[in-house]
Amino acid sequence: MPKIIHYRNKCIGCGICYEMQPELWRMSKKDGKATLLKAVIKKEISSVTITEPMVERSGKIVKACPVNIIKLI
Ligand code: SF4
Repeated sequence: MPKIIHYRNKCIGCGICYEMQPELWRMSKKDGKATLLKAVIKKEISSVTITEPMVERSGKIVKACPVNIIKLI
């Protein structure tokens, strides 16, 4: 199953991921960073399994993140 990985501590809070895929992201009111919904967090790295139909859009978000902290594996 494909997975999204998010290195949240390096997020600059631009909001692009949330704008492009609101079903998977939220912008935190606490620190302004993006939060990957339903993610497992280990050592400040978030990860979540996604479904095949979400892969194409997720790949675009990986490319769109200005600080390159979203990975699709
Ligand atoms: S696109 Fe990248 S930098 Fe922008 S809010 Fe999302 S994770 Fe953070």
